[in-house]
Formats: sequence, C-alpha cells, structure tokens
Amino acid sequence: MSSSRQNNGEGLNRIIYVSHDQLNLKYGALANANPQTDLILLVESERMVKQSRWHFQRVHFILSSAKHFVTELETAGFNVQYLTAKDTATGITEEKTKYRIENVICAEPTSYKLTKSLSDIGVKFVPNDFFLTSRSEFKDWAGGYKSFKMEDFYRWQRTRLGILVDGGKPEGGKWNFDADNRLPPPKNHNWPKYTKFKTDQIDQAVADKLKDFGYWGEVQIGNWATTRSAALERLAEFVKNSLADFGPYEDAMTQESWSLNHSVISPYLNNGLLHASEVVQAIVDAYKKQKRALNSVEGFIRQVIGWREYVNAMYWYLGENYRFENKLNAKHKLLPMFADPSCTKMNCLNSIITDVKARAWVHHIPRLMVLSNIANLVGVSPQAVLDWMRSVFVDATDWVMVPNVIGMGMHADSGQMMTKPYISGGAYISKMSDYCKGCAFDPKLRTGENACPFTTLYWDYLERNKSAFTKNHRMFQQLNGLKRLSDLDQVKVQAQQTIKALLDGKL
Ligand SMILES: Cc1cc2nc3c(=O)[nH]c(=O)nc-3n(C[C@H](O)[C@H](O)[C@H](O)COP(=O)(O)OP(=O)(O)OC[C@H]3O[C@@H](n4cnc5c(N)ncnc54)[C@H](O)[C@@H]3O)c2cc1C
Ligand code: SF4
Repeated sequence: MSSSRQNNGEGLNRIIYVSHDQLNLKYGALANANPQTDLILLVESERMVKQSRWHFQRVHFILSSAKHFVTELETAGFNVQYLTAKDTATGITEEKTKYRIENVICAEPTSYKLTKSLSDIGVKFVPNDFFLTSRSEFKDWAGGYKSFKMEDFYRWQRTRLGILVDGGKPEGGKWNFDADNRLPPPKNHNWPKYTKFKTDQIDQAVADKLKDFGYWGEVQIGNWATTRSAALERLAEFVKNSLADFGPYEDAMTQESWSLNHSVISPYLNNGLLHASEVVQAIVDAYKKQKRALNSVEGFIRQVIGWREYVNAMYWYLGENYRFENKLNAKHKLLPMFADPSCTKMNCLNSIITDVKARAWVHHIPRLMVLSNIANLVGVSPQAVLDWMRSVFVDATDWVMVPNVIGMGMHADSGQMMTKPYISGGAYISKMSDYCKGCAFDPKLRTGENACPFTTLYWDYLERNKSAFTKNHRMFQQLNGLKRLSDLDQVKVQAQQTIKALLDGKL
C-alpha cells in the first residue's frame, strides 16, 4: 500500500530511500537530491509496527514524524512515496520493480541489521553525516590508544571541532567541571517547565491507526514533537529555561519533575529532526551571548559531542556480536516489575517504571543507576534488558542502546567500554533523589525485613563477582569494603531471598 503524491515515474531515474531515523533535508542522501529525477521513498515496515512489545508513544513518534516529513518533502517539490510493506527490503524491491529503477541510494544505516538487508538488495550507501564523527575518523583515533576512554575522546573532539577551546586550551581553564555539578535535588525547587506539543490531523490519524495494537505504555499524544519546527521549539525552551542549571542537577532525580533540567531532545537528535551541530551552536551562542554558566554549558556539550558520538562510534568499533556479550554470565529473566510497576514496593523503581509507561522516557541516571543497576545486581540477562529498553524508550535505536546497555548499564563486556560497573546500594539513590522518603525500605539497611534490596544486593554482587574484579584497580576500594563486612553470610542469605522475591514480582 502506498500513499503520497502520485506520479507515473516519468523522468525519474533514482530512488532515495530515507529511513525513519534520517528525517532531514540537509543531510544524508537527501543533501544532493534532485526533485526532477529522484523518487524519495519511505517504508513503514509491518513487521516492526505489528509487534506489541513497543511503547505506544515510541511507535507513534517514529511514524508521525515520518509522515510529517513526507509533507515537508512534498512542499519542497519532491516526488515522494510513503509505502507500507511487509518489511523495508520488500518495500524497496517493490518500488524498484514498479518504476523500473535500479539505482537506489541511502545514507549509511544506523544498525548492522538494516545495513545488511539493504546491501543484500543492492542499495548503495552515501556517508552518514548525521553524526559529527565518521566511523573512519574514530578508528584512526582509537588506533592510537590501548583503551578507549570517553574523556580522551571528548578532549580530542573539543580540539578537533574547535568547541569551547581557545588556542588549544579549554575555555575556563578546565576540560571538565564535574566538581561543580551533580548536586542532589533541592527541596521546594521550581523546576523548569516542559511545554507539551500541539497535535494535528497527522498525529491524530497515526494515533487512531495504532491505538488498538495492544502496545505497552500510555496511549497519549503531544508529549513528543513530530516536526522539525516543534523540535526546534523544544531546543529553544531548554536553552532559555533549563540550560543554566543543567550541570548542577544533571544527576538528580525527583518525583516533583519528570524532565528536571534535561534537554529532552534525544528523540529528535536520533531521528534527524535536529542535528548535533545546530544543537551545539545554540548552546555555544547561549554561553557567549546570554552568559550561561560554563559548568552547565560544558556539561551539556560533553553529552552531545562526547557521549553521544562516542557511543555511536563504539557501536561500530566493537562489532556486530558485541550485543551478545554476557561476561558476568547473568541469566535471569526480566523482573516482572519492568512490565508492571505495581509488582514492586520499591518506591524508586515503582515511580521510574510508572514514568516510563507515562512518556517512554526517563533521564540518564534512572536508566543507569536504578533500572540497569537493579537488573545488574540481580543478574538479569543483559540481552533481556536490552530488548526491554529498545522497546519502551522513545529515543531507542540500535546504535545507542547496545553500547549503553551492554557496556555501560550491565557491564557485560568485562570493561571494554567502562572500566568499572555502574552499581550502587541504596545510599547513592537516597543521596541523589527523594524516592527513599516514601519507601517501605531503608537504604541504610542490608539485612532484615526493611533492608533496601539495592543495599543487600550490592554487597552480594561484589561477593558473587569478585573474581572478575580482582585485577581491576578501580574496584579496589569496593572489594576492600566487602572484606570488612562482618555480616556477609547473613547478607548472602538475604540476597538469595531478595532475588527470588524480585523474580516472582513480590518485593
Ligand atoms: C541504559 C541506558 C540506555 C540508554 N538508552 C538510550 C537510547 O536508547 N537513546 C538515547 O538517545 N540515549 C540513551 N541513553 C543515554 C541517555 O540516557 C539519553 O540520551 C538521555 O537521557 C536523553 O535525554 P535528554 O535528551 O534530556 O539528554 P540530556 O541529559 O539533556 O543530554 C543531551 C544529549 O546528550 C546525548 N547523550 C547523553 N548521554 C548519552 C549516552 N550515554 N549515549 C548517547 N547519547 C547521550 C543525548 O543525545 C542527549 O539528548 C541511555 C543511557 C543508559 C544508561
Ligand atoms: S530505600 Fe531502596 S528501594 Fe526504596 S526508594 Fe530507596 S533505594 Fe529505592
């Protein structure tokens, strides 16, 4: 089934396939498109859409953004086909036959799977310039190092791209202002506003089509921008209201605000509505013209030109099989609370998974230090966590989820990405959030009826995995703490009971 402006194919000699995560007229294969001779093709894969595991808002965002992009392309004078097909390769092949066009191009896809299926049907790739660092540039950089530390990469990026550097020296005399950042949430704070988006007929039509598919998560529209202009409005709102305090509260978690001072632009960076270069420019302008604080500006720039680029580059550098890594041999199934937050009395997890259900998004620290942390401590299979996160987050794509979950969240790669696991007991969550005050458990206790499961399992995890960490000097302090624990036997017994109760959905 196809829709959009009809044409008889006369004069067309090339198909430009545009994937749902490359929606930008200025980048990828569209940068040099010719309205007279190119047919622009978008394919909606039924195989993808019909899986009920997705969050409703994730599928809605992806499809509605693509449909809006079709109108943008038509306004710019292009011949466009939006096709629904069994899968992407089938859709492209159908159009090739229909228009008798052999020449199909697209920008390098962002996953191994799509790269293979498009190569198999003869699609040719142009470089993917949706990122600031090409795969070969990263390879050249990585070749000079034994381990690939994000901090080294980030400094190279700042210098190479000339962002917040002066004569090769970092702005403000330091590369990193972390010491000024990472504060807990203040009490009675006025968190910045997040304005919902106006919806239109396209948004509504996509919602009507999807509402009975039985997806997970709340059936709601308007939480996510589905056009470039609305994504730009969000960026402007962030710069105006949230950037100044981004640094101090970037790690804070609170039940009083779901977005805190975060930009909430990852979906748009990932589907092409925004480009990293314009985001960086907006932040640098705000620093120079509106004197936004350097600790926040640097902290944010680090996320975009550091973490985001690093994660994408590592996805390609570490190879196709990296997603199957499970070096800690974690075999448990996903905890029932991930599907249904009412299965848990743990206030942090109950609130955070309820938030994911409400909007398909939570910020970095809940993803890392609560969701991944509990899965890691219990010993849930990293692939089960990857599958869940890929399904429920609005900004999920393969290149970003695989390194973040396998390397960062689950430490399943014996430290190829991160030198030590991101694990903690309840003390960290208690310090950085307001969850513990309303909780049935006590973050300070590791044994007894009210012991916080994070605190019990943290010590048990170190004990269970100590042989994997003995040569890791960054784990020295934690393993030393373990040696000093007088009630380790009791902790181990309680940990077994805790893991069973969590797997049964009874804690
Ligand atoms: C287990 C786990 C899973 C994650 N899954 C995803 C995912 O599927 N998609 C995704 O875009 N991000 C993912 N992240 C990274 C990060 O959590 C999100 O990018 C961020 O929360 C998005 O919100 P924001 O736009 O407000 O980001 P901000 O905090 O405002 O940061 C600005 C931008 O920096 C980039 N960024 C920051 N950290 C990372 C990172 N670790 N990896 C890639 N980009 C980063 C994002 O583009 C983000 O929009 C994951 C992190 C973890 C620990
Ligand atoms: S006490 Fe433990 S389970 Fe409860 S909110 Fe705090 S960290 Fe979470």
